[in-house]
Amino acid sequence: MNQPADQDFTSGFVAIIGQPNVGKSTLLNCMLGQKIAITSPKPQTTRNRILGIHNIKNGQILFLDTPGIHNARGGLNRYMVDLATSSIRDVDVVMLLVEATREPGESLLEIIELLRKLSCPVVLVINKLDLVAAETLLVRIDQYRTLLDFREIVPVSALSGDGVARLLELLPPLLPVGPQYYPEEMITDLPERFIVAEMVREQIMKKTRNEIPYGAAVQVESFEEIPHRKLVVIKAVIHVERDSHKRIVVGRQGELIKTIGATARRDIERFLGCRVFLELFVRVDKNWTQSARMLKEFGYE
Ligand code: GDP
Ligand code: MG
Repeated sequence: MNQPADQDFTSGFVAIIGQPNVGKSTLLNCMLGQKIAITSPKPQTTRNRILGIHNIKNGQILFLDTPGIHNARGGLNRYMVDLATSSIRDVDVVMLLVEATREPGESLLEIIELLRKLSCPVVLVINKLDLVAAETLLVRIDQYRTLLDFREIVPVSALSGDGVARLLELLPPLLPVGPQYYPEEMITDLPERFIVAEMVREQIMKKTRNEIPYGAAVQVESFEEIPHRKLVVIKAVIHVERDSHKRIVVGRQGELIKTIGATARRDIERFLGCRVFLELFVRVDKNWTQSARMLKEFGYE
């Protein structure tokens, strides 16, 4: 893994930070050209730090996707914000993501205060450029320019990929000489089981809208590879807080859980590169968002 540093090889960590829902995970997937981080129109979709490995000519960029930074108290929310703020220490570049559709607000200024104390370069990425007119974009660039001495300001659309190639081009010169941290074929350090669970959770979030306040936690109970049939058999449990939430996830005559399973399976097949048999169960665990033990069990350490 850690080969001796070659003077021509650059590598380093780039933290992607910003408020919830600005498109951090969408941008990560777009830069990697593969989906590893789940996204949704709901805030607080990302709960963990997600590492995305991007190989370039003579270099390796390690992207850290983080939960959004926002005001939060207690349990899972507090954990997510701590994770996001701690991930900006010890990185080589910080990428602050904002939305072109929004003016810089109060809570963004708080994030900027945190960034002011850092010595590493901060790149401002103005996302969702597909949603605004060119004039608005120019106004935004001017508004943001006054807030911090950004190394670069790059407008992108993480959804369409517009501007993302340019963003990827300006990163390598900002990285130090360093080793190849991970083998070339690796795209993330997260176990396949985790990504699989996340892909199920994404579909639950997308298909249940606001009916389940904290969403659900998903745990892969078994992951069995059947080599000669090029098939993986996965059993996953969906934990929800209440019986009423279970009824919502299952849906009338099991219709919703069937759709959740079918859509998640397509993403999982693309990710694993083979056929997948996915079996889902729903279990009620009261107050899983508050319980430290449960958080640990689901991997939110
Ligand atoms: P995160 O919370 O910052 O990780 O945000 P997500 O990546 O989960 O994205 C939040 C929502 O914004 C999702 O519904 C995305 O599809 C949407 N989104 C992300 N990037 C863009 C973009 O460039 N344009 C548009 N129109 N929507 C975007
Ligand atoms: Mg996210």
